[in-house]
Amino acid sequence: MTKVYTIASGKGGTGKTMTTANLGTALALLGKRTIILDADIGMANLGLVLGLEKSKITLHEVLAGKADISQAVYDLPTGLKVVPSGISLQGFQNADPDRLQFVMSKLVTGADFILIDAPAGISKDGVIPLAIADEVLLVVNPELSSLADAVKIKVLTEMVGGAVGGIVLNRASAEKTMLTSQKISQIMGAEVLEVIPEDSSVRRAAAFKTPVVVMYPDSPAAKGYKKLAAKLAGSKAMVTETASAESNKEGFIDRLARSLFGGV
Ligand code: ADP
Ligand code: MG
Repeated sequence: MTKVYTIASGKGGTGKTMTTANLGTALALLGKRTIILDADIGMANLGLVLGLEKSKITLHEVLAGKADISQAVYDLPTGLKVVPSGISLQGFQNADPDRLQFVMSKLVTGADFILIDAPAGISKDGVIPLAIADEVLLVVNPELSSLADAVKIKVLTEMVGGAVGGIVLNRASAEKTMLTSQKISQIMGAEVLEVIPEDSSVRRAAAFKTPVVVMYPDSPAAKGYKKLAAKLAGSKAMVTETASAESNKEGFIDRLARSLFGGV
């Protein structure tokens, strides 16, 4: 059975693309048949961080009805398969996000894991990946704006019939990590599956268009991604709680801030 995860966050720049690339690579290195797909069709950069930016046929052409998905799947030496998106605005304009569900139905055959790198925000191309995944993984940074946006995505995911499988707390500082991750779990009503520390190796590896799990496998961030991969590879269904009704109530952000930082 294929397990489809959408890597989402609401806010931009939290580390969705890095998480998709590194978690996907770590799963492939565990021997799992893994495909990662760049659904950030407006601001695509999954292909860029993996050295596939010159690919002629991408998800853009597939969503425009000009190519079959099989033509847009690229193999990396790690065993990971990648479906990049194009980077032109014209390509974005021609791509129809409604076709994504059909594309996914063709991809699932023969894969253990599919990871979808979602765009930031709540536009149509961002909402569809939330609905079509088995589970949504929320990539959050330990800061108020990131958490507030992630809560919105959790509520939205459940509104469209999806489910949040857990949280990846990315760019965490070493101090107070336990406290922060416990609080984040409580507030979000979802388990923090892994804490990925702030680690300059992530950017150094990206400069070489190589995932950190390959280039610096013993770095703190790589270890985190590998632990997360092992958890997903070994896990059965993850228990999820429903979105707290509280997240919709007025004053929620203030209470969130007080709870996290002791008052604003
Ligand atoms: P998103 O896809 O959510 O917009 P990216 O994955 O592109 O975010 O990451 C945004 C930036 O943060 C990139 O420059 C990336 O190298 C950096 N980054 C992501 N995770 C980490 C980390 N754990 N430590 C240090 N830098 C990180
Ligand atoms: Mg991204």
